[in-house]
Amino acid sequence: MAPHTGQHFLQIPGPTNVPDRVLRAIAAPTIDHRGPEFAALTTEVLEAVKPVFGCSGPVVIYPSSGTGAWEAALVNTLSPGDRVLCWETGHFATLWSELAGKLGLEVDFVAGDWRHGVDPEALAERLRADRTHAIKAVMVVHNETSTGVTTRIPEVRAALDDAGHPALLLVDTVSSLGSIDYRHDEWRVDVTVTGSQKGLMLPPGLGFNAVSANALLASRTARLARSYWDWEPILLANERGYFPYTPATNLLYGLRESLRMLAEEGLAAVFARHARHAEATRRAVRTWGLELLCQDEREYSNSLTAVLLPEGHDEADLRRVILERFDMSLGAGLGKVAGRVFRIGHLGHFNDLMLAGTLGGVEMGLRLAGIPGKPGGVTEALEFLAHS
Ligand code: PLP
Repeated sequence: MAPHTGQHFLQIPGPTNVPDRVLRAIAAPTIDHRGPEFAALTTEVLEAVKPVFGCSGPVVIYPSSGTGAWEAALVNTLSPGDRVLCWETGHFATLWSELAGKLGLEVDFVAGDWRHGVDPEALAERLRADRTHAIKAVMVVHNETSTGVTTRIPEVRAALDDAGHPALLLVDTVSSLGSIDYRHDEWRVDVTVTGSQKGLMLPPGLGFNAVSANALLASRTARLARSYWDWEPILLANERGYFPYTPATNLLYGLRESLRMLAEEGLAAVFARHARHAEATRRAVRTWGLELLCQDEREYSNSLTAVLLPEGHDEADLRRVILERFDMSLGAGLGKVAGRVFRIGHLGHFNDLMLAGTLGGVEMGLRLAGIPGKPGGVTEALEFLAHS
């Protein structure tokens, strides 16, 4: 294969493209993590990250992937044998519920079709039926990265309230935070979980828990074994600007820079940009004559679009052609939809011309891979972008 020229197109739904500003920030020399300069860095990022979560309480930052932050949310708030309620919205909801089971929690896993988010009415019904309040936590993936479906968290919150149920609300925002409107405090989420490598425009390697007062209270009596993930020593050390272990210093430089970028653009503008790119992408997909995996327009994801291929066509072939010919990486079909679904990431550090290039690569790839459909999706998307 001839060497590729120009820039690789990283259009998987995370890790996303890291801005040059952030890369340069990360490249600064590593400093003493017990010195005064580091304390100033910690103090700055721990405050600056709060508006992105929409929270006023503490945010715990781990040198971990999102999976570590999933585990942290559970071990800090729950005890062995506690019942948790999960919804099968897709691959990541499935993985998180499996993790809960391995930790010794009793998991109620509500089957789903991978084309819808959590059904708030069905959730309220289940919670009402739990008269003894055996369910201690509801675990929800806000944006299912495997399906391109976004659950409406305010309606999930309302379901808990309507049922008068005291369960903690734990929400995974790994592929939504910093891309799709999210409000930890306003929606009274107890633990918000995320990772660095998507909307925060950083390389992988930081995991986050935004923690409510209620969750902190729960952590005082929670009995699942925890050490590395324990919030308490971290929050204590954070008060002085430090961590109880060696933190990911250079990723924290990157975080400081990416938070500045999000603040400069303004969160409302960031969310509007993602919504606009998602709409342009959906218009292209429909013009190609392909089907969106997400079936409810209220749940369309603004950070990625999952596309269902016609029967008899393999998404791995399509992605291989596009990678070889155009040097673009698209998201694979995961879990139950492997082989049938490919995913276009349009989140993070991204703009109109990057989207135009991305959709151009997909349109050419569809033709080269012999996927039946119509051309013209890119033109449709460009029309929309030009006039919106
Ligand atoms: N949750 C969601 C929604 C994800 O998309 C991912 C990864 O893509 C994870 C959790 C797991 O995060 P990580 O792979 O960083 O451990």
